[in-house]
Amino acid sequence: MADQYSMQDPVTQYPKLDIPEQRQDEPGLDSKLEPKADHGEETYRGSGRLEGRKALITGADSGIGAAVAIAFAREGADVAMGYLPAEEEDAQSIVKQIEAAGRKAVTLPGDISDEAFCQELVETAARELDGLDIVVNNAGRQLFCEDILELSSEQWRATFETNIFAMFYISKAAIPLMPKGATIINTASIQAYQPSESLLDYASTKGAIVAFTHGLGKQLAPKGIRVNAVAPGPIWTPLQPSFGQPMEKLTEFGQQAPIGRAGQPAELAPAYVFLASQESSYITGEVIGVTGGQHLP
Ligand code: NAD
Ligand code: MG
Repeated sequence: MADQYSMQDPVTQYPKLDIPEQRQDEPGLDSKLEPKADHGEETYRGSGRLEGRKALITGADSGIGAAVAIAFAREGADVAMGYLPAEEEDAQSIVKQIEAAGRKAVTLPGDISDEAFCQELVETAARELDGLDIVVNNAGRQLFCEDILELSSEQWRATFETNIFAMFYISKAAIPLMPKGATIINTASIQAYQPSESLLDYASTKGAIVAFTHGLGKQLAPKGIRVNAVAPGPIWTPLQPSFGQPMEKLTEFGQQAPIGRAGQPAELAPAYVFLASQESSYITGEVIGVTGGQHLP
């Protein structure tokens, strides 16, 4: 298979997915996803863009976070991985990829909706990696609900605690440990700008993540720490079949994008690498869309 630099037609670079009906409990596993997602295992070629950096990535076991972990390791970074204990199997397959790239992998399972765990996550990552230069706040939950009258307060709270409260706890714990040149990268979503009617709680957290990124970017700019976000469009990950979408939307997932297909996690990694590296030195408080043509406003 060609690497990420080979010129080719983006419409056919990855297949238009033939997605069978499927459901997993939350959090979904990549190992059970049908068809399998592509995290760049066969295609991502590094070139020393993050040599010697130390990165913490939440939700690094699967989907976008897994693709970012593989790319960071191949660019020369050591990686601490956050994920839920139920995802150990997925996490171990990414550990193998990081170690095959000759880098250190640190596994840190736990629930980031808990503030004390977030502090422990950051402290342990910095201790085990002997520093912390990059934090990727990528973990998130998405459970569809078609009617606000059926959307429970428990779900509303849990989505906010995981998607945005944790981002605050983790950033706050990490910033005092980060040197000048360090970067924070948050995972927002096209949902911040074009919310689906069935993702009220999720889309609201993604709007908050965009505002948090703009504001924290400004606040930390004079300190030499940059803060940016990536806003993905429809990407084929275990988030989607684990109640991320109603079944009728799941089987056609991504086809509405102008590129005509769902994106693969591998297609997200280069944006995170760019924002993590010194190449993006004048970019902060910014959101990069990776949406298959659905574009940010
Ligand atoms: P994913 O399921 O592979 O990754 C999400 C990860 O979040 C899980 O692997 C899990 O480890 C972690 N997580 C969830 N709840 C947690 C908790 N309480 N404690 C610790 N970890 C927890 O799916 P993904 O699509 O790769 O999601 C990654 C990010 O991308 C999420 O923030 C998601 O909102 C965002 N995103 C995804 C899409 C898409 O279409 N897949 C689009 C826009 C944004
Ligand atoms: Mg996972």
